[in-house]
Amino acid sequence: MPLHTTEAIVIGGYNLGEADRIIPFFTRRLGKIRAVAKGARRVRSRYGGTLELFTLGQLVFFESPHRTLHKINEFSVVEPFAGLKDDLRRLSRGAYLVELAGASIEEGESNEEIFLLLRDALTLLVLHDEPRLLRSFEIRLLRIVGYLLELYRCLVCQSALGPGAEPAISPTRGGLVCSTCLSRAPDSVPISLESLGFLRSVLHGGLEQSLAVPLADPCITNLQEVLRVCITHFFGKRLRSVAFLSLVE
Ligand SMILES: [Zn+2]
Repeated sequence: MPLHTTEAIVIGGYNLGEADRIIPFFTRRLGKIRAVAKGARRVRSRYGGTLELFTLGQLVFFESPHRTLHKINEFSVVEPFAGLKDDLRRLSRGAYLVELAGASIEEGESNEEIFLLLRDALTLLVLHDEPRLLRSFEIRLLRIVGYLLELYRCLVCQSALGPGAEPAISPTRGGLVCSTCLSRAPDSVPISLESLGFLRSVLHGGLEQSLAVPLADPCITNLQEVLRVCITHFFGKRLRSVAFLSLVE
């Protein structure tokens, strides 16, 4: 069995048999993997509380050839993100981030850019618990997976948006549609110019910079609606943590 070492974030966990746990990780080098933590539920387990949701650590695991379930050899904690676990809203937002990142790639498929985005977002969420962070994460993630690429021109008539335009986002077309072309993209959701400006600025700057961009409350609601429709369309299902998030917010 080949042995791998990689930075990894715990993105879930469920029980196996009487004493073991299966832990899904988002790893930096090898993407999403699942591995068994032998004896993790025993009182004197060598894992202690290290394999909890959100924990960032250095993972050493044995790869099982021809199988998708591997075996953890060692997991040393780098950052437990404890601040996300003692506050229900941070917990729900963090759960949403890891679920969204996990849903964006297939098991065994690697994507370092998404790993780094998730790591940065969890780090920022401890300090800045606010909706702009979630919206920035969503738009950057969608961009990485190759969706919602057009935010400057109408995808139907190709014209650039002028001042006073009333644009919308079409989930099936994956980007902007102008008001003249709305009838050709009936699934479109209106987006305000301010919300659109925020999305564009997030794509030019980083996650942290987006927290400094002012955004009025109606725009936050508007963006949440637009991105939720796009995410539901792209991922083909409502994510489980969305329901939890709506309950808490
Ligand atoms: Zn148009």
